[in-house]
Parts: sequence; C-alpha cells; structure tokens
Amino acid sequence: MSKERQKVSVITGAAGFIGSHLSDYLLQKGHRVIGLDNLNTGTQLNLKHIDSEDYVYMNVDITSFIEVDGPVDYVYHMACPASPIDYLQMPLHTLKVGAVGTRNAIGLAKWKRARFLMASTSEVYGDPEIHPQTEDYWGNVNPIGPRSVYDEAKRYAETTTMAYHRQQGIDTRIIRIFNTYGPRMRPFDGRAVPTFIRQALEDKHLTVFGDGSQTRSFCYVSDLVEGIFRVMMSDYHMPVNLGNPAEYTIGQLAELIIEITGSKSDIIYQALPVDDPRRRRPDISLAKKLFDWEPTVPAEDGLKKTIDWFKGYLKEI
Ligand code: UDP
Repeated sequence: MSKERQKVSVITGAAGFIGSHLSDYLLQKGHRVIGLDNLNTGTQLNLKHIDSEDYVYMNVDITSFIEVDGPVDYVYHMACPASPIDYLQMPLHTLKVGAVGTRNAIGLAKWKRARFLMASTSEVYGDPEIHPQTEDYWGNVNPIGPRSVYDEAKRYAETTTMAYHRQQGIDTRIIRIFNTYGPRMRPFDGRAVPTFIRQALEDKHLTVFGDGSQTRSFCYVSDLVEGIFRVMMSDYHMPVNLGNPAEYTIGQLAELIIEITGSKSDIIYQALPVDDPRRRRPDISLAKKLFDWEPTVPAEDGLKKTIDWFKGYLKEI
C-alpha cells in the first residue's frame, strides 16, 4: 500500500497572533505548513521559534495574486487587520483584505481543490440586540461607522465564502472568532488584554473606556486553535461561533489583571470609542453539539500564562 501523502495547510496571516499559534498546532499534527503574511500587522518574531523542515514562510500580500507551489489540502484564511486601532488606521486596506484578499484566498483553494476556512468575527453581530449571540442572529452593524470597515469587510467575506460554496461547490467553513487572547499579542495593538497587562506590569494607569460596564468574553488562544481545527476537519459549511462564554465587564477584567500581576496601578476612565459594542458573549451550543468543543482554560490561568509571556517580551523589545 502506498504511504498517504503528508497533508499541506496554507495559512494566510501566519505571522499574526492567531496564525502563528495555528502554525504551531498544525505542525504538531504532522502537516506541512505554508505560512503567508505581508507583515503589515504580523511579525516574524511570532514564527522565529519554529525550526522545522515542514514549515515554509512566504512574504505575500494576499490582496495581490497568491501563488503556491505543489499540492494544498487546506487553506486557513486568517489574514486581516483585526484590532480596532489597526483597522481604524487602515480603513481602505481592511476593506480590500476582506474583499480582494478573501477572493484570492478562495481562488487558491479552488485552484488546488483544497478545503477553505474563513476566519470571521463576532463583530459581524455589531452591537448585538440579542444576548448571548447565536449563529442565526443577523447582527446590528452601523454600516457607515468607523468600525464598519472591519465589520462589513468580514460580513462581505462571509457572503463571498457562501456564494463560492453555493455556486461553485467550494468546500468551505466559516468560524466567528470572539475575543481571544494569549502570548504573542502585540503590547501596543490597543486591545484591552495586552494594553491592561502592559500598563499593569509598568505600574501605569489602566485605561478603561466608558464606565467599564461593557462586557466581553475572553478565550485563551489554545482553546480557539483546537476549535478552528475541529471545524476544518468537519463537514459543516455554515458559520460556527468559537469563543469562551465566560463573560466579564471590562472593569472586572482590569481589576483581575491588577490582582494577578500584583500591580500598584489604578484605573482611569476614558471616552468610549464610537459604536463600541455594549455586550458580547458567544452561544457555543452549536460547536459543543457538532464538534464536542468547548474552552477548557479558565481566565485566571490563561491570563497568568499571557502575563508571564509579556514579562519576558517587554524586556526583549
Ligand atoms: N478597552 C478599554 N481600554 C483599552 C482598550 C479597550 O476599556 O485600553 C475596551 C474597549 O472599549 C472594548 C473592550 O475593552 O469595550 C474590548 O476591546 P478590544 O479592543 O480588546 O476588543 P473589541 O472591542 O474588538 O471586542
């Protein structure tokens, strides 16, 4: 009997926070991994620990044509500026990545007859009117607000993915990623977890926006990556929420980070960004039922690991 060919996975956005953890996971699963990035918001520091002949990194802007040699089995489309300060600084580029970049990434999957997974986001639900959010909720997005470049780009990318699936039979998956955190987040990406950790470790004020009563649900990155893989390996084409349902107010998150770091920092309150969602929490019943998936890392443990990593990283940079 001939030996089965090694599986080949392409990851767009491989040098980003989630893309780099997914790279590690797939290498562990024995895949050959081809990581694509243009280092716009990612960094090669996230991949420097990888010492494997099964890993190939290519500097590619996915809004141009994507060319990859040899067979490909899976395309994980993770590339996109994803933190509010990034997409507010690059509104047109963010729209282009969601539209042209997604089309090119699906084009690669089509050409290679590979399975395609699109990384969507809880932002497609906007400022949600139902709570927790289930996959059949259509969302409440302001189409012309500053956040809309990200929200609508991801909604359009979902639409594109479903249209290719329906019209051309591409084997597609869609995941909706809720707030995720862990090592390799950028200390200055403006998101709550890395910002609060950096501020707490430097004994600076923690900047809570609004009165801190808005909520988010934070998923540790290893849980998320496990979920991504299970969805890819399934035969389910409709969107799936991936996130941790444990919900915190942003004020609680700031206090928890002060407590774990033992910081002397206090909290200051600043203006709430425009269209900042009031509440967010995934209903993950679907992922539990279909893929037997649910997060296992409690916030205290995940935050401790993240804080330890940040302690080292902040000394390095
Ligand atoms: N946030 C905050 N202080 C910060 C950064 C963020 O209070 O320094 C708030 C932000 O307004 C939002 C929540 O924390 O209500 C989560 O923000 P993040 O940027 O992490 O993610 P997203 O808004 O995309 O869920």
